[in-house]
Parts: sequence; structure tokens; C-alpha cells
Amino acid sequence: MGGNLRILVTNDDGIFAPGLNQLVQNLSSFADVLVAAPDRERSATGHAITVHQPLRAVEREVVGATKSYAVSGTPADCVKLAIESLFPGEVDLVVSGINRGANLGTDVLYSGTVSAALEGVMLDVPAIAVSLAQFRQPCFELPGKLAAHLVNALWKQPWPADTLININFPGPEYDYPKGVKVTVLGRRRYQNAVQRREDPWGGTYYWLAGETDDRENVEPTDVWAVQQGYVSITPIHFDLTDYKLLKTIENWRLGLPGKDPAQG
Ligand code: MN
Repeated sequence: MGGNLRILVTNDDGIFAPGLNQLVQNLSSFADVLVAAPDRERSATGHAITVHQPLRAVEREVVGATKSYAVSGTPADCVKLAIESLFPGEVDLVVSGINRGANLGTDVLYSGTVSAALEGVMLDVPAIAVSLAQFRQPCFELPGKLAAHLVNALWKQPWPADTLININFPGPEYDYPKGVKVTVLGRRRYQNAVQRREDPWGGTYYWLAGETDDRENVEPTDVWAVQQGYVSITPIHFDLTDYKLLKTIENWRLGLPGKDPAQG
């Protein structure tokens, strides 16, 4: 085809998020960047899509992007809309991020950042998700530079069309990552995940919060790698089938009872 690589950038922190704007600037040094991102924060919306109300896409300038839209939906909506309607046939690669906060282990199932990338893959467009393990006052300058380097390097490699690449950068305890580790998804558990409180009128309400308990996450998990100061790279696909169990369950010889003749 020739011409520049065309990258769709999206996120779940919203189109005005510093992480997205930094990423667009860095990627635009070697690619044509298009943007379709939520018009507000949509973190932890997972793979939700909007089907009970209309979606609006409004042009909003993002420095470094050829064209950019703020979309009134979820991250998955943005990617669907971009690939099918806003930029049809114009997207070679989806890059989602840079998210404020890590997306590691089982948390990828809650992640809007990862789900946006997954939506790309589901529409046959290769995709990369990028997150930074820093939530308070994140600094995206270095991760933006390193992400652009890795995206450029990954794009030159062939990888299966149904696989997305999940990248996580270590937090501020490390002023430069120790290197890159290719990892598997860990398992994120939370302590005191549900906090129960009382409102001024005596009613009960809850906050989903809690601290992570990562003790069981050893090498080669993504959680371990980021804790140790490495950039974690995990290939992920949407096929959740447990292939190890197929034969076992077949051997259970599950069947149905004979059909009742009265049912016709
Ligand atoms: Mn987010």
C-alpha cells in the first residue's frame, strides 16, 4: 500500500487526558494519527457498548492528530465507530492509552483501555494497549517516548490477527525501566475491596476500592514484571475457551434426558 502507517489512538480516560495527548504527539513522529476517544472519563467500563441511546462524534482538536473525534460512548464504541464509520479503511493499527494506572492480570477484564484494543482485534485491526503503573500525578513524557519506540518496533513484526499486545510501564519508583519482559497475565486480588459506609440519613452505601494483594504474582506474570521495574508485554486474545478442559468435559458424557413425547 505504501504511505505512512495509520494509527487510531483511543483511551478510556477521555480525549482530554494527558496520557492520550502525549501518546499522539510521540506516535505522530512516525505515523499518521487519527483519534476517536470518549468525551469524558470511561475507566473501568470493560467491553461495554452503547445500544440504548444514540452516539455522537464531535470533532475536537488533538495536537499531532490528522483528525480527531470526541465520542459520547465507551472505549469499545469509539473503536467500532472509528473503524466502521469515521475512518473506514484508514486504520492500520489501534493504540489505546496511555492509561493512568496499570492494566495487569485479571484487571484487564475491567479495563476500558484493553477493551478498546480488543475491539480493534475483533474487527481484524491489530491493536496495542498501553498503561502506566502510576495513578497519582502520572508523568507520561518518558512512557510516551518509550511507547512510540515499542509500537514502531512491534509494527515491524508479524503477530496473529486475533491477538492484542498489552504493554504496562512501571511506576515512578523507577526513573528508567530495567528493560522489557514478555509476560503472562497474573491474578489481581484486592483486600477490603468493598467499603461499606453510612450516609447522613442513615442509609448504607458502598465504594468499590481496596488495595491490591500481589503476593502470589511471581515470574513470569505481568504484575511481577512491573513491580520489579520492567516494561511488561503480554499477548492477549479474546478466546476465553479453556482448551485444557475440553477433553475432560467430553469424557463426562453429558447428555440430555429423552424428549418427552407429550411435548410433541
Ligand atoms: Mn483509565
